[in-house]
Amino acid sequence: MNSTIDPNKLITLFSEPKKIVITTHKNPDADAMGSSLGLYNYLILKGHTVNVITPNSYPHFLHWMPGNETVTVFNKQTDKAKQLIADAQVIFSLDYNNLSRIEDAGKEIEKSGAVKIMIDHHIEPASYPDYTFSDTEKSSTSEMIYDFINFLGDKKSINKTIGECLYAGILTDTGSFRFPSTHPSTHRIVAELIEIGVNHATVYNRIFNTYTEDRLRLLGYCLFEKLKFIKEYKAGYISLSKEELKRFNFQAGDTEGFVNYTLSVAGIRLAALFTEQEGIIRVSLRSEGDIDVNKMARAHFNGGGHANAAGGRSDDSLEATAKRFEDMLPLYKDILC
Ligand code: 5GP
Ligand code: MN
Repeated sequence: MNSTIDPNKLITLFSEPKKIVITTHKNPDADAMGSSLGLYNYLILKGHTVNVITPNSYPHFLHWMPGNETVTVFNKQTDKAKQLIADAQVIFSLDYNNLSRIEDAGKEIEKSGAVKIMIDHHIEPASYPDYTFSDTEKSSTSEMIYDFINFLGDKKSINKTIGECLYAGILTDTGSFRFPSTHPSTHRIVAELIEIGVNHATVYNRIFNTYTEDRLRLLGYCLFEKLKFIKEYKAGYISLSKEELKRFNFQAGDTEGFVNYTLSVAGIRLAALFTEQEGIIRVSLRSEGDIDVNKMARAHFNGGGHANAAGGRSDDSLEATAKRFEDMLPLYKDILC
């Protein structure tokens, strides 16, 4: 882990019971919840008072994680969340690099005098934390939580409960161990998690085999009717309107992973998904190799992320957003073609 931080400072910080708040990014995914609840279960074990706060709610296929029932959702339980942040002695920022990623909860954290610790694998971490563990090479924040507990010299405390949460985040953020961010260290950590009792098949099934029929039909509809290729730029995209999502009884998380299917076509190296939600268009971008979608998300869609997986938003109509994507392609002719 980060060699500039003295582990003894953190060991001392956590040597007495503390009031701790763990925060993670908007629209939490399995890495956001896995790292948060993995760390939650560890800190509870150590006798701390711990609360996880998410900016908004998250999909049902993540509700099985131990400690889920204690999570406070900021935009639903705002007063409680504000009080927890105000009372906290230590605040963790997990799986996000900037307070703008947690919207209104960010303002409360700015006001707080708590010790702030960021653990994250996105580029360009903001400077507000007292301790920053940032490594863009890491597969997932969940892998970094394993490293963090190890950094505190306490690897032996990682049990099955903690391990299941961390495994979920590593599994999903590596695209089931296929993305370039999957390093030998990732497999070593996962091997250890399985050795302490984590059932990898069970975690996989809870995440990937618990969708509704509507969700599978929506995927079929996207692939059959909605997928558009712009082959001269090795690109493709799916766009879904509010009405289309409603037709398939859309629930949060239903389109998770859809953007990746476009890349499975030979010769396609850039994929996008546009979904019309709550008055904005959500943008997801994925790429192969040296096509940097983080830069594209920042430049064109008010977002960011990683080199091969990024997201953002657009205030234009669905059609105008898709057009913006198509119009931007010639700008990247050199790397796309
Ligand atoms: P997804 O497409 O799955 O929503 O997001 C892919 C990646 O991009 C994730 O690592 C996520 O953290 C990041 N990301 C998604 N939306 C945004 C955004 O609006 N701003 C920034 N900075 N990153 C985002
Ligand atoms: Mn992540």
